[in-house]
Amino acid sequence: MSLLRIALQKKGRLAEESLRLLGEAGIAIPQGGERLRLPAQNYPLEVFLLRDDDIPAYVADGVADVGIVGQNVVAEADLPLQIVRELGFGRCRLSLAVPKESPIQRLEDIAGRRIATGYPTLTRRLLAERGLSATILPLHGSTEIAPSLGLCEGIVDIVATGSTLLLHGLREVQALFHSQAVLVSRPHPTNPLLEDFLFRLDAVLAARQQKYLLFNLPKEALPAVVELLPGLKSPTVLPLVEEGWISVHTVVEEKRFWEVTQRLQALGAQGILVIDIEKLIR
Ligand code: ATP
Ligand code: MG
Repeated sequence: MSLLRIALQKKGRLAEESLRLLGEAGIAIPQGGERLRLPAQNYPLEVFLLRDDDIPAYVADGVADVGIVGQNVVAEADLPLQIVRELGFGRCRLSLAVPKESPIQRLEDIAGRRIATGYPTLTRRLLAERGLSATILPLHGSTEIAPSLGLCEGIVDIVATGSTLLLHGLREVQALFHSQAVLVSRPHPTNPLLEDFLFRLDAVLAARQQKYLLFNLPKEALPAVVELLPGLKSPTVLPLVEEGWISVHTVVEEKRFWEVTQRLQALGAQGILVIDIEKLIR
């Protein structure tokens, strides 16, 4: 029987969200304990649990069909891989940071100096793209303490909130690369099961970006509301028992949600109900 083989991070920031995504796509993975290969219970799929740094190579070599990994790790690996989908979690940026009191104010000021980083290949490329070069010192961890130990003038590291930098007396000079978790494959994936998997994944990803809205509205406010809400096609409108009132059902993008609900209220909407969408098939 053929299987789709997917490489996921075993432990770390992407591990839980990656399994949740499969779960929402209706693919149940048993609790594995220490096992590193887990067959799905109800779908022709097998999970490999790996260090995130190894995922690009497993996919590039064809041992796994697809992998879920940070875009920063994909870029650092510099292998022939394609990003199949952006997954919307694990968002962070790769930034140049320097000690708070450093004279370095702009990215250009780092030229010719020493930068410690866990992302040497990517850092070199990002600097070169901006016409800059520096001495790159590759490290495997604890990059934040390197400047205070005198190893370097700056670091290039992952930043999400910036609190780790602050804790180590560092200041972010500039973001060089924005990252999120992505699904990667080889450039021309051949496993015929991938298409069905992507159908499920897309239904989950689309649903995560939308909310279902229901509300009551004075009938005469409908034209203004229709203009505000492009919806999927046009909103569904049902009559209420109370004369002159209707119930409107529609779908709104998650990122516009607060703005839209406030404007709906201003247009006279009442009893606005917001419902999470589980799957959305376009
Ligand atoms: P592994 O043991 O698998 O090598 P790791 O320590 O290299 O794990 P994690 O810290 O778990 O990696 O981070 C995995 C990925 O999550 C990073 O490569 C990055 O894409 C993303 N990431 C890192 N830091 C954050 C953060 N603070 N918030 C959100 N996502 C992050
Ligand atoms: Mg790692």
